[in-house]
Amino acid sequence: MHNFEYHLASDLEAASKALSGAEDGKLMAGGMTLLPTLKQRLAAPSDVVDLSAIDSLKGIKKDGDTIVIGAMTCHADVAASDVVQSAIPALAVLAGGIGDPAVRHRGTIGGSVANADPAADYPGGLVGLGATVVTSKREIAADDFFLGLFETALEDGEIITAVKFPIPKKAHYQKFRHTASGYAVVGVMVAQTKDGVRVGVTGAAGSAFRATNFEEALSKDFSVKAVEGISQSAEDLLSDIHFSAEYRAHIVGVFVRRAVAAMA
Ligand SMILES: Cc1cc2nc3c(=O)[nH]c(=O)nc-3n(C[C@H](O)[C@H](O)[C@H](O)COP(=O)(O)OP(=O)(O)OC[C@H]3O[C@@H](n4cnc5c(N)ncnc54)[C@H](O)[C@@H]3O)c2cc1C
Repeated sequence: MHNFEYHLASDLEAASKALSGAEDGKLMAGGMTLLPTLKQRLAAPSDVVDLSAIDSLKGIKKDGDTIVIGAMTCHADVAASDVVQSAIPALAVLAGGIGDPAVRHRGTIGGSVANADPAADYPGGLVGLGATVVTSKREIAADDFFLGLFETALEDGEIITAVKFPIPKKAHYQKFRHTASGYAVVGVMVAQTKDGVRVGVTGAAGSAFRATNFEEALSKDFSVKAVEGISQSAEDLLSDIHFSAEYRAHIVGVFVRRAVAAMA
């Protein structure tokens, strides 16, 4: 690990100040991804700004027809939250299926979303549920947030403060866990929202995306039959030593049908 200056920020303003004053600063949430990256010398920031002491970034609340989750809320808290379990049980299921207990107690929603790992669960959940990422500067719809492999719409110095989830009428999350890491080989969130049906997919491509052909069919007829003849194109999907793009595409279709069956 290279040397860096460590800052424990007491509030959002102090974090922004430390970040903007640094030559090449990095935010740290639970450190689940950042610390291994530093240890492997894949990154060498001049400064690390720790967000863990900022209480205003932690917690879950219901605000009208929206669930607001602070950026520093760990996955275990989302999974165990009564508020999430009663309003969006599929989101509690998603959070409870991330990694292992250690990862779920250190990893945060803000860190996961900012990192935009193609195999992370939350990106598919945010896109499928039509969530909004709240930052220190603005609000960004999930549809506009995930731009590519580990690439987001965040600008330099922008800090995620919360994620807002509109409460769907119904939603269901299906995941094919990688047996070694727990990450999603494919994850699919199907949601019936007040603005229509949404299908968010993670794990299959460089970044989370909406499976619009399934959305269109389900918008006309929300049934397994309506999506029986529909398939996900393998074009632009990921292929690796574990699974081909064609296999991932097939799993997307299987999971959409399973999710619809579970919601019916
Ligand atoms: C063994 C293992 C298994 C895992 N399995 C899964 C899995 O099954 N599913 C899954 O979805 N994930 C999985 N993860 C990822 C994990 O869930 C964490 O969410 C992820 O590693 C990010 O960790 P963190 O929240 O501690 O963020 P950090 O590692 O601290 O930060 C990650 C990145 O986000 C930036 N960042 C952090 N917070 C903010 C913020 N508020 N605003 C802007 N930028 C910010 C940091 O600068 C850094 O670039 C796994 C991780 C490990 C180590």
